[in-house]
Amino acid sequence: MSVLIVGSTALDSIKTPRRENPKLLGGSASHAAVAASFFSPVNMVGVVGEDFPSKYTRLFKRHGIDLAGLQVKPGKTFHWSGEYEANMNNRRTLLTELGVFETFSPELPRPYQSSPFVLLANIAPALQLHVLRQMRRPRFVVADTMDLWLNIALEDLLALIKLVDGFVLNDSEAQQLTQTDNVFNALKKIHRLGPKYVIIKQGSHGSILSGPKGFFLCPAYPVSGLVDPTGAGDSFVGALMGYLARARGSTDAHIRRAMIHGSVVASFCCEGFGLNRTVTATPAQIDERVKRLEQITRF
Ligand code: AMP
Repeated sequence: MSVLIVGSTALDSIKTPRRENPKLLGGSASHAAVAASFFSPVNMVGVVGEDFPSKYTRLFKRHGIDLAGLQVKPGKTFHWSGEYEANMNNRRTLLTELGVFETFSPELPRPYQSSPFVLLANIAPALQLHVLRQMRRPRFVVADTMDLWLNIALEDLLALIKLVDGFVLNDSEAQQLTQTDNVFNALKKIHRLGPKYVIIKQGSHGSILSGPKGFFLCPAYPVSGLVDPTGAGDSFVGALMGYLARARGSTDAHIRRAMIHGSVVASFCCEGFGLNRTVTATPAQIDERVKRLEQITRF
């Protein structure tokens, strides 16, 4: 089964205390699509400008990602730039140039409209809603978001949350949305907004799932050589959805295993700039890290 992924396709310029890397392949959909492609066929919807390097288009194709829904428009590709502090946890946005993203309206090619698994990766919630309206009875829809939309598009975001099966956000966003700093209370409050499954990501501390069968504490894979965590959250949720599509299921047990695979793919993402390390991961390396996670969490 395939997974439909809609989100941003970007050129990212990333500054860490040690290095600076201009115009890497980035964006929520790019990270999520490559991560999902380790497990299932992927259909990606997004927009790029005429300046989008052909080597990045080839990279998507090498990963078997279907690009029928990737619009190429006159103008510049969305460009985002961020800088990490010495601790590599705090990041600030230096620049956001919307380019062709400013007028983007995601239109789904007809065959995509019946995709069973749908990931609404981080973009404006109004666009995520626009995608959802084009779908014909999807089986499992997950949405991701970011603090920006909590600040400027809360009404659209709340309308979206009501309609999805799973909602994924990080701990500071959950705190902002629910006005509580206790993660378990935050999960309860988010369920009341609609979704059956809620996942709160906690960076290098892993993530927590809450669903009808209770909680699941998912560890992060221990990364000792952290290079650039940009896109780790997108990789986590992309791999999660790819795994569910491969497993053809979305039960609690499936989601738990999918999260473990998400943690593993996110760990590769953190070991290189942009998608540099993710694209070199192999299925054998992924399996090895899944086994390691099993070992270090068993008691
Ligand atoms: P993460 O590290 O998981 O928060 O995701 C980082 C990715 O989000 C980068 O590759 C950016 O290109 C992308 N991004 C940054 N700002 C936005 C935005 N306003 N809308 C969509 N994607 C964005």
